[in-house]
Amino acid sequence: MNPSIDGDIAGGGLQSDELIMFSDGIQYDKAIFIGNELYADRRPACIIQPRSIAEIAAAIAMAKERSLDFSIKCGGHSYAGYCLNNGGVMLDLSLMQGFEIDEASMTVRADCGVRWLSLYEGLARVNPNYIVMGGICPDVGISGAVLGGGINLMSRTFGLAIDSLQAVSVMTADGELLELSGSDDLDEDMKDLWWAIRGGGGGNFGVVVSFTLQIFDVGPLVIGSLSWDDLETFENAVAVVNAGLSRDVAVDAVWTKAGPGAPTAGRMTVSHLGTVASCKSGLGDIFSERLAPTQYDLAARVFAEWDESNRIWDPFSHDTFFYHVGFIFGPRSITPDLVSIIRELMAAAPSRSTFHWNHVGAACSEVDPEATAYYWRAGEFVATAKIYWYDGSDTSTCMEWAQRVKDALTPFALEAKATYINYIENPFAGWQEAYYGRNYARLQRVKSRFDPGNFFRFPLGIEAQDATSHSAATGIDAT
Ligand SMILES: Cc1cc2nc3c(=O)[nH]c(=O)nc-3n(C[C@H](O)[C@H](O)[C@H](O)COP(=O)(O)OP(=O)(O)OC[C@H]3O[C@@H](n4cnc5c(N)ncnc54)[C@H](O)[C@@H]3O)c2cc1C
Repeated sequence: MNPSIDGDIAGGGLQSDELIMFSDGIQYDKAIFIGNELYADRRPACIIQPRSIAEIAAAIAMAKERSLDFSIKCGGHSYAGYCLNNGGVMLDLSLMQGFEIDEASMTVRADCGVRWLSLYEGLARVNPNYIVMGGICPDVGISGAVLGGGINLMSRTFGLAIDSLQAVSVMTADGELLELSGSDDLDEDMKDLWWAIRGGGGGNFGVVVSFTLQIFDVGPLVIGSLSWDDLETFENAVAVVNAGLSRDVAVDAVWTKAGPGAPTAGRMTVSHLGTVASCKSGLGDIFSERLAPTQYDLAARVFAEWDESNRIWDPFSHDTFFYHVGFIFGPRSITPDLVSIIRELMAAAPSRSTFHWNHVGAACSEVDPEATAYYWRAGEFVATAKIYWYDGSDTSTCMEWAQRVKDALTPFALEAKATYINYIENPFAGWQEAYYGRNYARLQRVKSRFDPGNFFRFPLGIEAQDATSHSAATGIDAT
């Protein structure tokens, strides 16, 4: 235990029995579990589970006074485990689970600990046709997902989560609670913070304590998957998606391999605002005799039904190591050359692996790259290659494969560098521009204004303007 956390925590306004856990016991292990053994050595000295804004303020004050590392955990899905820290304080938001749906304004105000699953279920109880632009995995936390941009199956029609975010409340390192929105009444600094919150990524500027999201009344959607027994036909169908689809059709594609030596299989998840017939015609040649999927289950569904079937993706059901590398590709970038490189990389994967993209573009691309902190608006395919393994002795082989994928595919990304902050990695050279493009300098100015002491820090955290880099590491590092 870190000696500076011992003892008089109640003096900081925190009642230790109910709120604070030290590093032993099942509750502690449950709170730090993120489903990835790669980061199992990150053990905060103390976990605080606030139930109110006042308790969040007390936790910040306590960590600041003792100069302790401080991290925030909502859904715990940070791909590189940045909700954890070693020896500091972890703010675990799992007890902040309230939300209020206001049908008059078609908004929902949700506390910072909510995960998409409970929000989708709550919306469906009011009206099964209501959705927000939330993440596709039901266990992801709203906090991390929205702060990095937020991609939904319907984002080509309705934009990213940040594009329909109405307001947030943020607690700064000074314990000040700021109410931010698109209101003209905000002063310039506050407008800058509102800009930065939308795409700057979690863990940088403060604890966002609540989010107000727009609700969309979409009616039944067509959602389902298509799969092919034969990889070549799947890859020819990928060419149809690459050539461009209308904004009311989205196709997420995934190459999967079950393990070393196993064949690579291809699958797509399709979503569409309309009927099954209009969906099939929107997919053009994909349903022609030449390209037809071996199996498909396109059907009109409410979003919550799809969400129900999607729960098998839950990474918390696996006790495994995994790592990933990410890319954002522009329209028509999934060329035959790129596809053949993906095929070779998948064939060479030493363990279970996937290459997957979320289909964006359309409404997401209609926003100016500098209008919010999410810079890569020109992107059409937000991709990630993942590798999973079960034995720590395979770590270096699997991490080497991930590095090979990164080296091979980054030249095809926007400006030969773009990647998505919500698909965050271990530190690598040039990460600032890779995640934020030309918006990084403005993000640094906002950081200097609202957190000059760098209280909210982690290896890929935005650096204040005059700070020396605290993440100069290059390449992928398993530690
Ligand atoms: C299986 C899976 C599926 C995914 N699907 C999608 C998808 O469909 N669309 C998409 O856009 N992304 C998706 N993601 C990426 C996901 O959005 C990011 O990993 C996101 O950061 C996770 O948020 P979290 O709250 O669950 O994670 P956490 O690890 O709890 O938090 C992520 C980061 O945000 C910080 N943070 C958490 N809460 C707050 C807060 N209240 N205030 C300030 N900072 C905070 C944390 O410190 C950490 O740095 C997926 C990830 C996984 C693992």
